[in-house]
Amino acid sequence: MNFRTDEDFARELDAADPLAGFRAHFHIPTNEAAEPLIYFCGHSLGLQPKAVRAAVDQELNDWARMGVHGHFKDQSPWYSYHELLREPMARLVGAQPHEVVVMNGLTVNLHLMMVSFYRPTADRFKILMEDSAFPSDTYAVRTQIRHHGFDPDQALLIARPRDGEHTLRTEDLEALIRQEGPRIALVLFGGVNYFTGQLFDMPRITAAAHAAGCTAGFDLAHAAGNVELRLHDWDVDFAVWCTYKYLNSGPGAVAGCFVHLRHAENTHIPRFGGWWGNDPKTRFRMHLNAEFDPVPSADGWQLCNPPILSLAAVKASLEIFDRAAISALRAKSELQSAYLLHLLDQHPAQRTDRGHSTPVRYEVITPPSPSHRGCQVSILAHDRPDRLFKSLHAAGVVGDFRPPNVIRVAPVPLYNTFHEIWRFAQILTAT
Ligand SMILES: *Cc1c(COP(=O)(O)O)cnc(C)c1O
Repeated sequence: MNFRTDEDFARELDAADPLAGFRAHFHIPTNEAAEPLIYFCGHSLGLQPKAVRAAVDQELNDWARMGVHGHFKDQSPWYSYHELLREPMARLVGAQPHEVVVMNGLTVNLHLMMVSFYRPTADRFKILMEDSAFPSDTYAVRTQIRHHGFDPDQALLIARPRDGEHTLRTEDLEALIRQEGPRIALVLFGGVNYFTGQLFDMPRITAAAHAAGCTAGFDLAHAAGNVELRLHDWDVDFAVWCTYKYLNSGPGAVAGCFVHLRHAENTHIPRFGGWWGNDPKTRFRMHLNAEFDPVPSADGWQLCNPPILSLAAVKASLEIFDRAAISALRAKSELQSAYLLHLLDQHPAQRTDRGHSTPVRYEVITPPSPSHRGCQVSILAHDRPDRLFKSLHAAGVVGDFRPPNVIRVAPVPLYNTFHEIWRFAQILTAT
């Protein structure tokens, strides 16, 4: 599309947007004058769908009216509540229903997956991760490595961009996997990097890992609800994600977990067990020698009976994704971030003062190609980044600042408009 830079064009894009109506299904935070803020922070905490309150109220009311009998009530019984999320979540991540379960938090699920799929040996004990992985993942991985008696400084292998570049090249990653493969037990990558916004080539990374005899796992915290995923077809071994970022299910909401069918059905895979992962028919056996008998699906990794109030919010949110369809959301998202990149390109970041050009004030470090990015655009500020971020905040932009110098903004197709993108570009370039 040929973008124009005038305000009318932003309004034309909104008028032509088939998904524009979804914004009305969300609570949009406002300033003191009750004007909506430009909320570009869906990469950290997605906005509240209006339907969530009724969904949570329903379970609160049932609890008040029925107490323990809510576990077996006629409508959405708590005993099997997690099963209601299976199919919508599977559709969202391109999985078969029995490959997906909603449980725990992301980091807990990552540990549970590593218990099963990081089985280091004396020869093959390394974990390969991307540079600037999210801190929780690094803590999880380093402590798992130590738990197995290895030294994280030896066992943790980091894939870094080339000198002078901000993002990774798939071919470099493939070469690294070929070269180090015999020593790598697990390739654990983000789907979309939280810092740069780079979308990794998950099918190619998985294929390279498998060709070298490694397991391939993904942290999809920034990919689920953002980009289209085909976890089953890509042959990913396992994946984990949270539901409070692009999935709009509320702070600390229950997380997602994917286990490929060829593992999910294998009840002999070692794991940590709990009663909710056991066959429901024998879940309540009281004798001490009762063997753990896992459900032959991703459900077999559950430990606890889940927090229903949180699952109710996830369920309400996933209904919106089903109505909008992730393919349509992704198409809008590609257009939105392309428009944002275009506007930022038009305003030269290079300022000329008294005939001398001053250094570039900021640069976008997210890859420009839609196949290498999702919603998020990461802006590296060269000139007083904290001041720039403060002025964005003062002008009503909700973004995120990662010290020392990266501002991350994410126009989200479910609730952000093209006009907000246009205003953001105005504000950024005027400060
Ligand atoms: C947000 C995020 C997390 C957060 O972990 P929780 O267990 O949900 O607190 C972990 N990893 C990545 C990559 C993230 O983006």
